[in-house]
Amino acid sequence: MDSVPGDLDLSQLAGKSGCLPQYLKNCAYDVHTRSWVPPHMIRHVPKTSQKALIKHKCFQVEQARSGASTCKRCGEKIAKLSLRIGYPAKDQRGEYGALVIWMHAACSRTCCDGLILETFQAGESSLKKKIIGYECLSEEEQTQLRESVLRAQDAVSMDAPPALATPRQLSPPSTSNTYCSAVAVPS
Ligand SMILES: [Zn+2]
Repeated sequence: MDSVPGDLDLSQLAGKSGCLPQYLKNCAYDVHTRSWVPPHMIRHVPKTSQKALIKHKCFQVEQARSGASTCKRCGEKIAKLSLRIGYPAKDQRGEYGALVIWMHAACSRTCCDGLILETFQAGESSLKKKIIGYECLSEEEQTQLRESVLRAQDAVSMDAPPALATPRQLSPPSTSNTYCSAVAVPS
């Protein structure tokens, strides 16, 4: 690690409890490298990949592919196949200077100045619009995810039948499938 630049804040990267790395706003997502791209780095993305950049997304959700990742909020392991929520943060080790910070869904509600919670409170369309990978989840997983994030806020909503929480909607066209597979394929 001799090449670590002097301005890298290692205390932040260590993920001290209560001191999460700062949320990087306005990032794009590159499906080819599966990395977040900060706004000033977009010009460094190869031309061919630039067209495929996913913009206007804020967060990321997926099933943990292994049990190896740790929640940066509580420091506990994230169980394999459980849903985890991530946000981009500045990190030199990332392809474009950003890396995703993963958390348990339930732990994420207080992160990013409450932006994650706000997104969930705003409902289904906001989740689809702002969270990469949300549309790739099954309806069951989507319900489970919403409950994990919103549960502590409003315990009563757990009793709501899923049909109410999940209005039927036509699936969007194939573009979302393209990025679903790109996002979901393990490297
Ligand atoms: Zn946690």
